[in-house]
Amino acid sequence: MRSFVAEARRRVPGRKRDRVREIVDRLAREHQDATIALTFRSPLELLVSVMLSAQTTDVNVNRVTQTLFEKYRRPEDYLAVPVEELERDIFATGFYRQKAKSLRGTMQRLIEQHDGEVPEAFDDLLRLPGVARKTANVVSAERGSPQGIVVDTHVRRLSQRLAFTRQDDPVKIERDLMRLVPREDWARFPHLLIWHGRRVCIARVPRCEQCAVNALCPSSRV
Ligand code: SF4
Repeated sequence: MRSFVAEARRRVPGRKRDRVREIVDRLAREHQDATIALTFRSPLELLVSVMLSAQTTDVNVNRVTQTLFEKYRRPEDYLAVPVEELERDIFATGFYRQKAKSLRGTMQRLIEQHDGEVPEAFDDLLRLPGVARKTANVVSAERGSPQGIVVDTHVRRLSQRLAFTRQDDPVKIERDLMRLVPREDWARFPHLLIWHGRRVCIARVPRCEQCAVNALCPSSRV
């Protein structure tokens, strides 16, 4: 995956920690609608949506879950049909074989270990089959108790351009961000970067002249 670390060449004055706070404030004013783009009505739907969102767009996931969630309402429902049927039902999200396997494994564990509920504890989430750190982070943040900071492709790129990190590996980037970003902002921080990344700080051609944080950005081209 392309790295954006080298783009951060300009010197910007002030402490990094102060810069982060100012950037969060400015982006929050700029993107007041920055929330999760997945549609869900319960912790179970949230978990399934996030699991399906790997390697595809949120719009695509929402299209699939609109009908999926009418058919599969409880963890048992995912196990009551042949795996091929579940694969067909989630086919449009891509990697459907692996995703169906993870979903069924997760549902099995929810039933056996958690009375059919999505657990609150971060470690319990991480023990669900096919649930990696990013998924557990999204679920915890949306339930109001973020345990870390979600690092997706946008968060990675913007954190590198804004010089919040010089790392390429998502786990190391997250570690850097957790040191820098105030804990009360852990949940909204990725949303702000994701929306800014989609609308302004585009991967190929960032729109620096329209960017609300260009004065604070070491990668600004203006
Ligand atoms: S769009 Fe903004 S955040 Fe992205 S590189 Fe340009 S100035 Fe920096």
